[in-house]
Amino acid sequence: MLKINFLTSYYFQSRIINCPYDRNKLIGFKNKIEKKFNKHSKYIFKKINQLTGINWKDKKIDVWVIKGWHPSISSPLILNYYQYDVNFCFFNLIHELIHNNLGDMKFMDKKGKFSLIELEAIVNLVAVTVLKKVYPEKTVFNLSKRAEFMGMYKYVWKRVDELKKEIDFSQTTIKAYGTHNES
Ligand SMILES: [Zn+2]
Repeated sequence: MLKINFLTSYYFQSRIINCPYDRNKLIGFKNKIEKKFNKHSKYIFKKINQLTGINWKDKKIDVWVIKGWHPSISSPLILNYYQYDVNFCFFNLIHELIHNNLGDMKFMDKKGKFSLIELEAIVNLVAVTVLKKVYPEKTVFNLSKRAEFMGMYKYVWKRVDELKKEIDFSQTTIKAYGTHNES
């Protein structure tokens, strides 16, 4: 079973992220995220695997929780603190874990070109499907709305709505859908 290791690092924070922080506050926040994640971890790992059709490659993933300007990324998994908002941070953690699960799988637009919007839309479609069991529908909707304000995300969420009609998870997986689209 995959294990997530939640971490903060003084040197990472002060030398690389370069943002002043309250160490105890960030550790306290990291513990809250960890507790929330552990409550749902079995379901989350299983559900992401079931929706994507891709097995987890890692046995352990380190999640570095940071305070600062740096956006979250999936590898190494750096998780922004989002002003200490546990639910929004959790939402983004699921997003990055899905990226991690998909690995370097490429997604194309309708013209057959690699599309970051398509990739992000696929990740978000999986994320909202996973989170349906964790939060009420309205909360998932609000968290998605909040994520819209980040850059090109408006286009991404438009595409998520289209994909909801194109992908029926009771019939297919992301792997099957993506492979089919490549041809
Ligand atoms: Zn992403």
